[in-house]
Amino acid sequence: MAVTDHVDLPTFMEGVKRRNPHQPEFTQAVQEVAEDIFEFMEDKEEYHSQQILRRIAEPDRVMSFRVCWEDDKGHIRVQRGWRVQNNNAIGPYKGGIRFHPSVTESVLKFLAFEQTFKNALTGLPMGGGKGGSNFNPKGKSDREVMRFCQSFMTELYRHIGADIDVPAGDIGVGGREIGYMFGQYKRITNQFTGVLTGKGMEYGGSMIRPEATGYGAVYFLAEMLKHRGDGIKGKEVVISGSGNVATHAAEKITQMGGKVLTLSDSGGFIHDPDGIDQAKIDWVKVHKTRNRGRISDYADEFTGASFHEGKRPWHVKCDLALPCATQNELNEEEAKALVANGCIAVSEGANMPSTLEATHVFKHAKLMFAPGKAANAGGVAVSGLEMSQNSERRSWKEEELQQMLLDIMQGIHQRCIAYGDQGGGYVDYVKGANIAGFKKVADAMLAFGVV
Ligand code: NDP
Repeated sequence: MAVTDHVDLPTFMEGVKRRNPHQPEFTQAVQEVAEDIFEFMEDKEEYHSQQILRRIAEPDRVMSFRVCWEDDKGHIRVQRGWRVQNNNAIGPYKGGIRFHPSVTESVLKFLAFEQTFKNALTGLPMGGGKGGSNFNPKGKSDREVMRFCQSFMTELYRHIGADIDVPAGDIGVGGREIGYMFGQYKRITNQFTGVLTGKGMEYGGSMIRPEATGYGAVYFLAEMLKHRGDGIKGKEVVISGSGNVATHAAEKITQMGGKVLTLSDSGGFIHDPDGIDQAKIDWVKVHKTRNRGRISDYADEFTGASFHEGKRPWHVKCDLALPCATQNELNEEEAKALVANGCIAVSEGANMPSTLEATHVFKHAKLMFAPGKAANAGGVAVSGLEMSQNSERRSWKEEELQQMLLDIMQGIHQRCIAYGDQGGGYVDYVKGANIAGFKKVADAMLAFGVV
């Protein structure tokens, strides 16, 4: 019989930090979840005695591998690739692949940990995983990207499968990269299965997958506002990023009658007081994705817009904010500026864009704050629907999928309220998302015993 092993939060976090030295992003993500879960577990001895949180915070496995490829000049390049399989208690591992020079084991472990709770929140049967490489696709030719993707998949294929682990896109991995990786998987295994999501429509992709994360983050924002008798129409909105999530969030805000004021990339942000309408969003999509250009060019293209080099958009006065670029892109001081300028709600399109200190500022100000694991779950949810369509060998209609995405985002909102309602009209969405996600995974793990 298991003995009671009831440690407190500081002791637990001390252990996590000791076992994961030099992994600040991972320990930050665990701390954010543990703060809420320890409170929830206070009177639930079984979760303590079975060490459930400790087990979720220890990935099932981490694969690290060498990825060799040859550039256009004939030089041999050596990169590192990873796949982190965090937890498959409720379904096959599922989570994106990131290609960016900032990728480390710590970043991927944090993302896989977060993904575990996010996927549980969608209500679909998906476990949590994440992968990637420190490869930088920027400035590489199509052929170089193809050779890299093929080399990456030549190792990754051993670890994944339609019922084992189903990767998707993330930063630096879009339709082009998914195509090259799927092609290589099919070639090596001689199998046509739904092993990746975010595929092209011609070979098993799902309608609305590219739009799903950005649209979903806006649906969640709309639900939070609706809960307070408010809406997006007429609101001024600040968005960071100019990739997949940011441009589709901007698109949905515009469709719902809001005005988007900013977009950004790692070079700085653009501010367009006239509003970034659909025609301008379409220009950004082509410029950033197809032409692989920079957001600074926006200010040359559209009169009235300004570019702010090396800066982030959080000091621009707004009603609503959507951080949609990367982790830790919104710090404590910027969170205070948002609150002081009258921002009423923040919906995280990116994963962990707000630092721990920034989330505390939002919590203290009782702002409507949707953490990424709830707000950006629309992407993985439609990936889950892509898996279902692949298993059924058929494609669902766009209208059906649009409705399913909306239903899923509303369902996540409800689950957050169930565990995060603090009374007096205030919902702690971080707490709600953490507890709802944890409980589903934890209860499945309890059913399996000690494995
Ligand atoms: P993209 O690669 O399409 O776009 C990323 C954007 O973020 C680019 O504008 C990029 O600018 C910017 N960016 C990247 N790193 C930095 C940095 N260090 N500082 C400032 N800006 C930066 O990625 P996605 O839009 O797909 O992903 C954005 C976020 O959303 C990530 O956190 C991702 O994990 C999360 N997410 C994505 C999902 C999806 O379905 N795609 C699903 C759920 C979450 P630049 O061009 O200069 O690099």
